[in-house]
Amino acid sequence: MTEIFYKSTRGENGIITSSEAIIKGIAIDGGLYVPTSFPSIDLPFYELAKMDYKELAFYIMKKYFTDFDDRELLECINSAYDEKFETSEIAPLVENQGAYFLELYHGPTLAFKDMALSILPHLLKTASKKLNITKEIVILTATSGDTGKAALEGFANVEGTKVIVFYPSKGVSEIQKRQMITQKGDNTFVIGIEGNFDDAQSGVKELFNDIQFNRKLYENNYMFSSANSINIGRLIPQVVYYFYSYLKLLRNGKLKKDEKINIVVPTGNFGNILAAFYAKKMGLPVNKLICASNENNVLYDFINTGIYDRRRELKLTSSPSMDILISSNLERLLYELSSHDDELIRNVMENLKKEGRYEITQENMKWLKDFYGGFAYENEIFDTIKDVYDSSKYVIDTHTAVAYSVYKKYKEDTRDNSKTIIASTASPFKFTRSVYKALNECDDNLNDFELINKLAEFTGLDIPNAIKDIENREILHNYTCNKDSMKSIVKKILKI
Ligand SMILES: *Cc1c(COP(=O)(O)O)cnc(C)c1O
Repeated sequence: MTEIFYKSTRGENGIITSSEAIIKGIAIDGGLYVPTSFPSIDLPFYELAKMDYKELAFYIMKKYFTDFDDRELLECINSAYDEKFETSEIAPLVENQGAYFLELYHGPTLAFKDMALSILPHLLKTASKKLNITKEIVILTATSGDTGKAALEGFANVEGTKVIVFYPSKGVSEIQKRQMITQKGDNTFVIGIEGNFDDAQSGVKELFNDIQFNRKLYENNYMFSSANSINIGRLIPQVVYYFYSYLKLLRNGKLKKDEKINIVVPTGNFGNILAAFYAKKMGLPVNKLICASNENNVLYDFINTGIYDRRRELKLTSSPSMDILISSNLERLLYELSSHDDELIRNVMENLKKEGRYEITQENMKWLKDFYGGFAYENEIFDTIKDVYDSSKYVIDTHTAVAYSVYKKYKEDTRDNSKTIIASTASPFKFTRSVYKALNECDDNLNDFELINKLAEFTGLDIPNAIKDIENREILHNYTCNKDSMKSIVKKILKI
């Protein structure tokens, strides 16, 4: 087995183990940790196709987390992918509309973030033990709505950790918000900020890179880590389900040997689609990676022009988990595509910070040939939800609708008929107002909680356990703060 190490995309000296990378979250130079090389698949696909989700998860993660021993990793996997998921399949694949919807939302918080955040706390705890860390780990997280709840749920009452979540107080759905502010656990803290997701993410990144503040934490027996997809421990578990869904198609005779698939991913911070790219690097036969954006279409522009320009108004859309203008994980992609050119990464990230934009040369545009970028307008998202339902009674959420809508454009554009997997990232019950509105006349007097029942009645679907009676749960977190006072809030929480 080849040992895999991790290093920063921005050139910081030295390589570290996966445990260290998971604990640190982000490099001190501001870069993201990436594997120094990609492991390859050393079993035939027909062998892998016999594995269930947990077995495959072990096979893939073991290749990246090489300093974890078998028992440690198995324990993490078994604690993560258990009855918390509403289906023992963990990630079911549903054939519909001539494509395959990979349902990643059957976990405890109804969004795909559970796929990684149900395991990250265990990886962190194990890593911390391996490294003899006695400090309390403070998970600092910015969320556009789904990561926050998934992190809270994953870390609640995990010994030796505290989890602090910042969310844009006006940028999440009513149900997302209620899921977070009713979170139990003495070690959980939830704060709404007057600002958008990018403000929250930038604020969190600044705290991570504040050397003095980190020193102060250290003196008080704390250290920061991250539950955002900047943490490599979040990214790698996401590679698993791309293999899993491909192998299922292979096993069921839907794919021929070596036949390539397309993967469509509704994208925000570029983590989920990057995991698909990592899968491709490991040998998954992928034709196109289709990056689907909502009206915050920075990535669409980048893939089509080579110019990344965040200088625009952030729009609040019906797919709030993708309302992002700074897609952090693009940095990891560029690092790979540029053959590990950390100087280039430093330059573009510096430009992004100072000028709000960067570009790659026309020559380097060929790097992006495996990607297709598209975006969907709000009305297209609503029409797509309705069309899919009318033709098949299948209900998709707004994020998945962005993906499907872009996939339709891709097909019109290219006439490519490759089999296609669509990452279905959230339960329709998490975005009930928009989904119900798309399907039926919506009475604006009904609140989001009443609409949960309406949606269940209308579609005949069962309400997922995770949000049953959510409106009656006690509100335990009721704080908001200015985006400039994140640091003082953290100090107050930690009493330092
Ligand atoms: C987080 C999220 C996305 C975006 O995923 P990224 O990894 O940030 O690109 C899409 N859909 C849903 C429902 C999400 O929660």
